[in-house]
Amino acid sequence: MDMSNDTIDRIKTEVINCKLCNLCMNRTNAVPGEGNSKASIMFVGEAPGRNEDEKGRPFVGLAGKILDEVLDKVGIARSRIFVTNIVKCRPPANRVPTEDERRVCRNYLEREISIVAPKIICILGRTAYQSLLGGGSILGNRGKFIEKDSKLFFLTIHPAAIIYNNKLHYTLEKDMQTLVTECRRLDIPI
Ligand code: URA
Ligand code: SF4
Repeated sequence: MDMSNDTIDRIKTEVINCKLCNLCMNRTNAVPGEGNSKASIMFVGEAPGRNEDEKGRPFVGLAGKILDEVLDKVGIARSRIFVTNIVKCRPPANRVPTEDERRVCRNYLEREISIVAPKIICILGRTAYQSLLGGGSILGNRGKFIEKDSKLFFLTIHPAAIIYNNKLHYTLEKDMQTLVTECRRLDIPI
């Protein structure tokens, strides 16, 4: 395919109609990435949950509320960022998406990254860390910047982790503050 005139809308249409993996069978709605297509920062989560599946939009449930609150606290406007997931359809009972599902869905994420061309890709949690950087422990590496294939990644926990361990609220906030500080230092508009 000629990618030179690829657009976020085009990806959205393809994702909504996608039947490339079995996750299409149980979904209510596929959930393409959304937000500012010229965003400096792109956030990448794992997969849609129940609320996202119902609405067809990423991070609109409890994890999304936590994300919004922490972004607001550190002064990152949700309207300025782009938010997406490793896979675009909800896995049954929110199980972790398989290697196969991630591989098949990967093309959409790669295209979102090419179009938005974010200055920083913020990885939310283990699944995105594994998929994008081949990483392991998120708690051992969070708060760090990693450069790979001339892209700059930042690593933090998944907002949903806070639902199960409230102490992580502080961790996420601290990391987002680190992200903001680095954006200022690099003159990246947020
Ligand atoms: N968790 C995710 O990883 N992504 C969403 O969109 C919502 C919850
Ligand atoms: Fe297609 Fe991705 Fe949904 Fe699988 S998860 S059906 S590859 S959009």
